[in-house]
Amino acid sequence: EPFRTEKPALAMDSTALRHLHFVFIPLMAPGHLLPMVDMAKLLAQRQVKVSIVTTPLNSIQFQASIDKEVRSGSPIQILNVQFPCAEAGLPEGCESIDTLPSMDLLNNFNTALDLLQQPLEELLEKQRPFPSCIIADKYLMCVTEVANKLNVPIIIFDGTSCFFLLCNHNLQKDKVYEAVSAAEKFLIPRIPHRIELKRSQLPGIFNPGTNLKLNARREKVMEVAEKSYGIVVNSFEELEAEYVKEYQRFSGHKVWCVGPVSLSNRDDIDKSLRSRRNLSYENEYVKWLDSWSPRSVIYVCFGSLNRAIPEQLIELGMGLEATKRPFIWVLRGAYGREEMEKWLLEDGFEERVKGRGLLIKGWAPQVLILSHTAIGVFVTHCGWNSTLEGICAGVPLVTFPLFAEQFLNEQLVVQVVKIGVSAGAESVVHLGEEHKSWVQVTRENVKDSIENVMGEGQEKEEIRERARKYADMARKAMEQGGSSYRNMCLLIDHIVHVKGLHKS
Ligand code: UDP
Repeated sequence: EPFRTEKPALAMDSTALRHLHFVFIPLMAPGHLLPMVDMAKLLAQRQVKVSIVTTPLNSIQFQASIDKEVRSGSPIQILNVQFPCAEAGLPEGCESIDTLPSMDLLNNFNTALDLLQQPLEELLEKQRPFPSCIIADKYLMCVTEVANKLNVPIIIFDGTSCFFLLCNHNLQKDKVYEAVSAAEKFLIPRIPHRIELKRSQLPGIFNPGTNLKLNARREKVMEVAEKSYGIVVNSFEELEAEYVKEYQRFSGHKVWCVGPVSLSNRDDIDKSLRSRRNLSYENEYVKWLDSWSPRSVIYVCFGSLNRAIPEQLIELGMGLEATKRPFIWVLRGAYGREEMEKWLLEDGFEERVKGRGLLIKGWAPQVLILSHTAIGVFVTHCGWNSTLEGICAGVPLVTFPLFAEQFLNEQLVVQVVKIGVSAGAESVVHLGEEHKSWVQVTRENVKDSIENVMGEGQEKEEIRERARKYADMARKAMEQGGSSYRNMCLLIDHIVHVKGLHKS
């Protein structure tokens, strides 16, 4: 590997840097868009020209954050393509997965993604300097075609961890899950830890849902991603060193861990602007948090896509109430609204927890909230971004996985890095199939798991101490000279070499 030198010649060579142009093309969903925007900002801070390609309604979300970067001297810009809603049979304005009125429209959304090939090609062809590298989300398969046609190197952004990538790779090769029933536990093959799961806890590719088109697409995404030669990962080597190494060895991919990228948001303004949805409330949340003592507040959020059923959410709420501790609970706008509203208001939940329970019905400034010293635990659905953001906050996690690879993320948290406890969910609930789900985690499970990391006792203190240590490692990884900082240099260096710019 000629480019993996300990001392990246890097980027300090400003002549080579001037010719570079990295183009980021994120999937339109918060869990993919937000980390790629963070990553793009980090790269541009190294004085490399960066463009983020997205659609008008998505760019509104982070325009202010990019404007701030530009004001501090970063060569970064947003390029817009129209999202083909009408052609794909989507209601006007549905440019992000979290805004789909129903997950039944996921196939239409994917059609729209495929239709982006032509407009993307036309847009990129015009760019000067000509793109030297495209970093595209793995779900945007059409970008591989565009990159091949324009002869631009493409690197995949995967959006998960190397722990997951290795498990995924090995499961794909060994197919051990095929020999067991859905509810039987089996060992994930050839990984450094002893991790047991049930097939019902695996992501859709190994544990298909009823959307056949989606299942077929997942296979294709995997195929395309497996063929790519390099991937950037939002993780840091100290978190999962063995998995980074093993995954590179087994897959033959180049892997650059450049995270946790949410740490690119340094001050409260960055954190508020990161996902600008209801800026006016944010000061109030911070003020509310200021009124609680350090590490006393429970923060609960299940990410941007979940549509957990009211019965499950009610159990969760009852569990929170039973802890008698202060909490922030983020309820998405798309939950079984009427039933939940009735329970929250008429059944008196909101009244009973008044003062100590802050409900955010909609979008929360998660990174801002998590960085407040009053937060003591994060009850998370284990989306990879949330998991990492929790790690950066230095608080223990209570894991409550719902879908996709989240049960594997839970294993990483609970069994490998040991900074959290499981709330006890048993099976994946595929997006769009929530109506078939049932209560998996009772109010007692919720209360007990929170007490298992918040209360007094040596074991609990040890979990909290480890969580603090990992937060420290994450911060150091991102600082100048840290592993993720270095990997970003190596990535730039790699492209400088691939493009032959080091000779100029
Ligand atoms: N997020 C947020 N506010 C919310 C919900 C989510 O800021 O109310 C952010 C969160 O910080 C994370 C992303 O959206 O960066 C969600 O990604 P994750 O991988 O955790 O879950 P997903 O939404 O993909 O299920």
